[in-house]
Amino acid sequence: MDLADSAKYLMNTYGRQPVAFTRGEGMRLFDDRGREYLDFSAGIAVTALGHAHPGVAAALAEQAQRLIHTSNLYHIEPQVELARWLCGHSFADRVFFCNSGAEANEAALKLARRWGAQNKDGAYEIIATAGSFHGRTMFALSVTGQSKFHAGFEPLVPGIVTVPYDDAEAVERALTARTAAVIVEPIQGEGGILVPSPGYLPRLREICDQNRVLLIYDEVQTGMGRTGPLFAYEEMGAAPDIMTLAKALGNGFPIGATLAREEVAAAFAPGAHASTFGGNFLACRAGLAVAAALDDGSLLARARETGAYFQARLRELKARHDAAMEVRGKGLLLGLALDRPGAGVVSFCLERGMVINCTAERVLRFTPPLIVTAGEIDKLIPVLDDALAGLESK
Ligand code: PLP
Repeated sequence: MDLADSAKYLMNTYGRQPVAFTRGEGMRLFDDRGREYLDFSAGIAVTALGHAHPGVAAALAEQAQRLIHTSNLYHIEPQVELARWLCGHSFADRVFFCNSGAEANEAALKLARRWGAQNKDGAYEIIATAGSFHGRTMFALSVTGQSKFHAGFEPLVPGIVTVPYDDAEAVERALTARTAAVIVEPIQGEGGILVPSPGYLPRLREICDQNRVLLIYDEVQTGMGRTGPLFAYEEMGAAPDIMTLAKALGNGFPIGATLAREEVAAAFAPGAHASTFGGNFLACRAGLAVAAALDDGSLLARARETGAYFQARLRELKARHDAAMEVRGKGLLLGLALDRPGAGVVSFCLERGMVINCTAERVLRFTPPLIVTAGEIDKLIPVLDDALAGLESK
C-alpha cells in the first residue's frame, strides 16, 4: 500500500511505524511485501490467542452468515452465554457489554455514580491514580492520571481526585462523604508496567469497605490471562466491586465488558445506559471462542511458564546493558525500563522482524500472544541486545 495515502486521508492521531501488515498466523505477522515478523506486541495485549485463531475465525464466519446484529431491544443468546462464563469465572454477578476499554470504564464510572446517587446521598466523587490510563472518552480520560492526554480537552469531568499510585493511605486521605468509587489498574500498563506492592489492593479493599466506597479494577490490559491468572486481581489479594475488560476478550474483535456484583449492578435500570453495538452476536461469539480456548487453564499455565522464562531472559539482558534499568511486570505483561527513550529500539526491532512496543516513552513493552514459545523469545533477545548496544553507542 502507499503509506503516503495513510498520512493524507487519515486524521493525524497516531505515530505509525512504516509497515502495513496484511496477514497473521499465530505469533507471526506478514507485511504487504511478504516479510515475516514475530509479534511480541499482539496489538498491545489484544490478540492473546494469536493471529487468525481458528476457533475465533470459525465462530465469526459461522455467525456472520447467520445473524450479525439485532439490537439490545431483543435477547441475544451468545451475549448471555458469555456473561454467564464471565460471572462463573470471576467475583461478578452481572455484565454490561460494549465495544472498547474506554466504553467499559465509562459504564463502570457511570454505574458508580448511579450507585452513589441511589445508595450514598448522591456521592459522585471518583478517586483515580497518577500514571493511570483508562481510555479516551471524556470520563475515562478524566480519570486517566497523565496530564499529557488531557491537553486541549479541558474542562475534564468534574468530581475526580487523583492520588499517587501504590499509595493506599493517599486514597484514604482523599476520601470525603461524597466519594463513590476508587478506580485503579491492578498493574499499570500504559503508565510503564508498574506492579504495586503486595498489600496495595487488599488495603484499598479495606478502605473501600470501611467507607462504603466502590472499588473498580480496570483489567482492560491485565485481564484474560495476560498476567498469569484469568484476571490479575485473583493473585493480588482482593476482589473489586466492578471490573472492566476489553482488549483480549475478543482476540481483536471489538468488545468491552463491565462486570459488577449484584448489589452494585442494581443501580442500572432500563434506559440508564446503553450501547447500540454492545454485545452483538459477532462480538460475543468471538468472546465465547476466547473463553473456550482459556477455559481448561492449560494455555494460562503455559503462558505463566513462558512469562517466567521471558522475564529471566530480560533480566540477563538488563545485566548486559547500562541503558536497561529495570525488568517489570508479571506473566506476559512485561516491561524493560530504559534510562532513555525507547522509540529507536522499537524501530530497530521492526527492521529485524520483531514487533515490540514502547510505553511511557522509556519502557519497552512486551505483550505477545499467550502462545509464544521459549524458542521465539530466544529469537528476540539477540535483536534486543543489538538494539541496546546501538542505543548505548550513540
Ligand atoms: N484501560 C486500560 C488499562 C488500557 O490499557 C486501555 C488501552 O490501552 C484502555 C483502558 C482503553 O481501551 P480502548 O483503547 O479499548 O478504549
